[in-house]
Amino acid sequence: MKKGIHPEYYEATVRCACGNTFKSGSTKQELRVEICSECHPFYTGQQRFTERGGRIEKFKKKYGMD
Ligand SMILES: [Zn+2]
Repeated sequence: MKKGIHPEYYEATVRCACGNTFKSGSTKQELRVEICSECHPFYTGQQRFTERGGRIEKFKKKYGMD
């Protein structure tokens, strides 16, 4: 195994379009994502997703999910 073949690995600050931030391992120090565990229906569940109302409606429009 050659040395120096692996990129630097950081604990990146990930910023989501919903305003949430969280830490994740990455080769970059800062990441931007458009969806995260806080706003993705897969994680929030459909019911909670609906309950969030206006904010999600705006979000859906912005990302063409309607
Ligand atoms: Zn999010």
